[in-house]
Amino acid sequence: MNTIKFEPVGRPKTETHDVGKYTIKKMEIAGQMYDIYSNVGLTIYVTNACNSDCSFCMNKYENNFLCSEEIMDDEKYLKRLDYILQYLKPLNPSIMITGGEPTKSKRLPEIMKLIHKYGYKIRSFSTNGTGLLDIVDGKSILEHMHENGFLNNINISRHAISPEDNYRIMKTKGDLTEKQISEIAEFCNAHNMRARMGCTLQKSFMSNLDQMLQYCQHYEQLGIDTVIFREPVPIDPEKDGYWNYQEQFVDISKICHAIEHRSAFLYAYTINGLYYNVKHFYYRDKLVKCYLEKNTANPEIIRDLIFYADGRLVNTNWNDVSKTLLF
Ligand code: SF4
Repeated sequence: MNTIKFEPVGRPKTETHDVGKYTIKKMEIAGQMYDIYSNVGLTIYVTNACNSDCSFCMNKYENNFLCSEEIMDDEKYLKRLDYILQYLKPLNPSIMITGGEPTKSKRLPEIMKLIHKYGYKIRSFSTNGTGLLDIVDGKSILEHMHENGFLNNINISRHAISPEDNYRIMKTKGDLTEKQISEIAEFCNAHNMRARMGCTLQKSFMSNLDQMLQYCQHYEQLGIDTVIFREPVPIDPEKDGYWNYQEQFVDISKICHAIEHRSAFLYAYTINGLYYNVKHFYYRDKLVKCYLEKNTANPEIIRDLIFYADGRLVNTNWNDVSKTLLF
């Protein structure tokens, strides 16, 4: 998926790896030997449940999610996750937390403790933000995150500037107010944590560079100075709803092209990785990173791993083909 990131110039980078530096590792999983990208990530589904209902939510289209029956017993879920984290330690993937809405799951603090215990690096935490200020076991979820080293790339999904438009897209029950976004930003800034806004571009809402710049400005006023824009993830044309989904598709490569040709953006440098070519630009006080997929990597290489809430460990490769590795 192509993305564009705006972040303040001169801040320490929050990426867990260098796109341009990688090797291919080998690991035997369930009796079979695999080639694995050294910057592999492990996405952990904390829960399948979500209090939003985004029109473009991948979970509505992704077969692996659709067949995933969540382990409802927390103890059983945590035991399985513990096993997987131990198993994958030689690979040392960086962790991406997702769902469903992770902050609304009561098992989240225990999951964070477990990940912290094994010393994994945290790549990202995806949330609609509605539970970040919730109190669980006497502390807010943000405090639990701070205690367990979940400090960077706390990705708060909002796909429009106005709360009304955002509600039209996400239909979140108990949606975040702008005041709460400022409170979250204030907590993060005071505790050396980095929150960022995550916006999926869509034709009817956010679809061009000028709107993106307004979006950055709006959330910066609320205290969040880093934004990542994404394209909707491509889905299988055979799926019901494909044409409605496709109608909203925004091609980020065209926006990168617009950036290259706008004089306010000053080209800095390019990094070439296995999966992405990343052009960097300066724009006012921001470093702008345009990640474009390269589509040339060997599809046999495992790019990412996913722990579904049903306890399965699944891989994905370059072509988004997945295979269950452990169940
Ligand atoms: S917030 Fe995320 S998990 Fe929930 S419906 Fe939206 S895209 Fe799906």
